[in-house]
Amino acid sequence: MIVDRQGRRFRNLRVSLTAACNYACTYCVPDGKRLVAAHDELSADALAQGVAYLVEAAGIERLRITGGEPLVSPRLPAFLEAVARLGLEEISLTTNGQLLARKLTLLRDAGIRRLNVSLDTLDPQAFRRIARGGDLACVLQGMAQASAAGMAIKVNMVPMRGQNLDQVLPLLDYCLEHGYELRFIELMRMGHLARDGKAFLEQFVGLDTLLALIGERHAFEQAPRPLDATALRYHIPGKGHFGVIANESVPFCRACSRLRLSSTGWLHGCLSSGSRHFVGDLLDKPRHQALPALQRLLVKALADKQDVAFSGDVMVMKVIGG
Ligand code: SAM
Repeated sequence: MIVDRQGRRFRNLRVSLTAACNYACTYCVPDGKRLVAAHDELSADALAQGVAYLVEAAGIERLRITGGEPLVSPRLPAFLEAVARLGLEEISLTTNGQLLARKLTLLRDAGIRRLNVSLDTLDPQAFRRIARGGDLACVLQGMAQASAAGMAIKVNMVPMRGQNLDQVLPLLDYCLEHGYELRFIELMRMGHLARDGKAFLEQFVGLDTLLALIGERHAFEQAPRPLDATALRYHIPGKGHFGVIANESVPFCRACSRLRLSSTGWLHGCLSSGSRHFVGDLLDKPRHQALPALQRLLVKALADKQDVAFSGDVMVMKVIGG
């Protein structure tokens, strides 16, 4: 097992199935153009082989499928079928929910029991302004159907001043009512926001502001969470939980166990480091050749992790997933 001097190792793998997306969210895509798949994206089998090798070489326990938007990828069924055979502790998926109702049977049959659905507002106009694609009603319907099918749903919201701060309480109440766990993600300095500090600071909403806002309506207490969890978790007695991924306010780099594999075969050990390591050429090699080479790259990827705090990067989320 590859472990660094802070005791960190890779346990959680996020695979970006495609860079293509049916949204063009303001914080992800500055020019508002819908994202298309990269021309050199790997096949479902190659990506699944990558997961299998990483399970062995890095000790990956849990897999999250992301993107781009994973539900738009024609490779999703074959990828799900291949990774289902790997005996992972958990396979989950992050989606904008637009195609959720349509893909629900596929996901359920593949053993997916946990979904993270990104949703920044319950206001249809603000939805169109932020996501620049899709339809709010489809997302809400997809979540309701997934929940009725027994899936656990976490909703990811990025609160932003001037865009959706007025939606913090309505979205929280909606999630509590429907049994979804809302997680606020502090805006990250990724992509164009890493270059444009002014735009970042104008929109950024930190943990203290959020908790003060929520405290106006609900009494809550901090709840226990796993050691390598990125989210702080809070309990509202009698109502449910919510979380905050406080990248800036309470950095979690010291306990980060995440590894990312892009749709084009690059390993990223840290969202906040410009470094990446190409593994696409190892995936059709036999195990005895692939694993030692992969292990050397994993040592480098682990060394890319920040010691303490996230500082952002010009790399865009669409490429590597959240
Ligand atoms: N399409 C899928 C979705 O919408 O969940 C997966 C990819 S999306 C890039 C994953 C997550 O990253 C979303 O929850 C999104 O809100 C978040 N995200 C993207 N850019 C971000 C940024 N600059 N700061 C904070 N969160 C961001």
